[in-house]
Amino acid sequence: MKNIAVIGGGIVGSTAAYYLSKDPNINVTLFDYQKGQATKAAAGIICPWFSKRRNKPWYRLSNQGAHFYLDLLQDMAADGLQTKAYQKKTTWIVKKKEKLAHDLLKVGHKRQENAPLIQQLEIISTEQIQSVFPNLNPDFHVIETDAGAIIDGEQFCHDLQQLAVNNGAQIIEDQVAIRHLSANSVQISGHHTERQDFSGAILVTGAWLAELLEPLDYHVDVRPQKGQLAVYQTTYPTDQLPLIMLDGEGDIIPHQQGQIFVGASHEDDKGFDLTEDMSPLTELIDEFDRFFPTMADIKPDQIKIGTRAYTSDYAPFFGHLSDAPHITVASGLGSSGLTSGPLIGYELAHSYIDGQTTINWDDYPVENYISKKR
Ligand SMILES: Cc1cc2nc3c(=O)[nH]c(=O)nc-3n(C[C@H](O)[C@H](O)[C@H](O)COP(=O)(O)OP(=O)(O)OC[C@H]3O[C@@H](n4cnc5c(N)ncnc54)[C@H](O)[C@@H]3O)c2cc1C
Repeated sequence: MKNIAVIGGGIVGSTAAYYLSKDPNINVTLFDYQKGQATKAAAGIICPWFSKRRNKPWYRLSNQGAHFYLDLLQDMAADGLQTKAYQKKTTWIVKKKEKLAHDLLKVGHKRQENAPLIQQLEIISTEQIQSVFPNLNPDFHVIETDAGAIIDGEQFCHDLQQLAVNNGAQIIEDQVAIRHLSANSVQISGHHTERQDFSGAILVTGAWLAELLEPLDYHVDVRPQKGQLAVYQTTYPTDQLPLIMLDGEGDIIPHQQGQIFVGASHEDDKGFDLTEDMSPLTELIDEFDRFFPTMADIKPDQIKIGTRAYTSDYAPFFGHLSDAPHITVASGLGSSGLTSGPLIGYELAHSYIDGQTTINWDDYPVENYISKKR
């Protein structure tokens, strides 16, 4: 019997714990602190196909990650839980210039070959835009696709963890540390957790990976980025509204039961700060008011705040620690970790289950971001 610990219960750790728990030869314990978690603060957009990023490994991971949700949903349903946290969503990608919309449409058509989720992809007319927002004066151009989805990260992790518990996993809410790392074991303890030995561990603490590994003399190239988004409770039939990805940073994300998220901010200079500050959201809220003028004087009901993890070249990484192969890690998922996170969690879990992986780990090398201090 293998005893495997997962440290971090965001989207990566929850998926990893779920898949590990399906193996009768593995005892799994998930430790999660929750504070500042990116997953539960996230906007929830799964739509990587129209990004301007040119990094090909990032795109492959995000595209495969978006498609992997369908397998994960099937696995969860087979285990008796039809999650409501994931919903397919008509998506609008908004461009201010007509040429940019046409250029992006071409990119979408090219990517369609390896993205079966993209069935519908077209530029829609002003009449079509106004059939959803009658009073909107659109001075922009909209690509519409059926490929996108919205996920409620918090609910999704809750569902994955519930399934893991049903399969015998233990979930412990605690901030833990690694006390000792030897060639074939790892010792973990926390504020409310006695020292325990594990034969392996998955370290998926997002922006807090450096905090976890630096006491063991590792240098970790991961920095925090503060993200905020505004949540409005409305009476709109949000299931009939499209997800709107605006030109620039902002998005309007209609979740279930009348909730609309507006955001998110990308604040590089705030470290792990979790205090509410509306100023970085002002422009995005102005844009929201254009689509929903009746909301113009209404304050958001909640501000979600979380901490994203970035590497210095903005690329994600995952895999084994080179000097401790029984330890696997993942971080640096940036602003697309809800998209790639479940696939990474699945891959890490399978390295302990049967060693079978579906993506080329060499494209996301851990050693570029984690090294032993001299
Ligand atoms: C505002 C915002 C909007 C976003 N929108 C999107 C989006 O629309 N689409 C998208 O794809 N991505 C989005 N993201 C990015 C995405 O949320 C993250 O990339 C992803 O959730 C990272 O998952 P993770 O599991 O690596 O880390 P996290 O979700 O941060 O989880 C790490 C967990 O580890 C725990 N932890 C840390 N240290 C310890 C310790 N010592 N002991 C125990 N537990 C510990 C933390 O408390 C936390 O719960 C957004 C992020 C933010 C902040």
